[in-house]
Amino acid sequence: THFGFEEVPYEEKVRKVAGVFHSVAGKYDLMNDLMSMGVHRLWKRYTLDMSGVRRGDHVLDLAGGTGDLAEKFSRMVGPQGSVTLADINDSMLKMGRERLVNDGIVGNLQYVQANAECLPFPDNHFDAITIAFGLRNVTDKEAALRSMLRVLKPGKPLLVLEFSRPVIKPLNPIYDAYSFKVLPLLGKLFADDPDSYRYLAESIRKHPDQETLKAMMEEAGFEQCAYYNLSGGIVALHRGYKL
Ligand code: SAM
Repeated sequence: THFGFEEVPYEEKVRKVAGVFHSVAGKYDLMNDLMSMGVHRLWKRYTLDMSGVRRGDHVLDLAGGTGDLAEKFSRMVGPQGSVTLADINDSMLKMGRERLVNDGIVGNLQYVQANAECLPFPDNHFDAITIAFGLRNVTDKEAALRSMLRVLKPGKPLLVLEFSRPVIKPLNPIYDAYSFKVLPLLGKLFADDPDSYRYLAESIRKHPDQETLKAMMEEAGFEQCAYYNLSGGIVALHRGYKL
């Protein structure tokens, strides 16, 4: 792409991402809590607060995985609204459905296996779209952003929660050691899968930084784009509107 990242061939990345998420699905929630020391819950809380979602809304949680955001949205929109949990990976989708059904979250939720690059929904359909820790794994991010814009209603937001670039430079060595040493070790100890967690660290480094992602959203056609650094820029929430 002309944003100058990621030279991995398309098929290779798609195969790798599928392998990683088939492999981690069973341990995904445990590992999220372990690796982020629970803080991912706060990042997600902030995303919900910034979504402006109200009762009766129709929400798309894209790359929704095991359904953390979908579960909360389901309560926010109530019986008149709907939440669509979409993910490309059937193992992750299955874990999500199992968990939400067990928690009694039924009625206004639907599950769709879909690729973010070519969403199978009508134009101008959703009141909000979230993609949390998902865009990093999408091969053609520009196509995905255009597809999200198409299915949003005018006036409504896309929220992208994703790893980004820490802003406190002196902490970088600690961050690097944590990502490349501690994460694979946790992956090995708790999930018997160090490679998947090495992929995690690598994919975070390759992902566009705050300003680049903002420019990509603008280029795709989103307006009033802005980002909010969380935990010192380890994670950023980007928000843009379809006008
Ligand atoms: N949103 C959840 C969360 O925040 O915990 C799950 C995030 S998980 C790290 C990334 C998810 O993105 C995986 O479930 C993966 O299957 C999904 N994914 C990867 N590429 C995708 C694509 N092209 N379209 C839709 N989902 C995709």
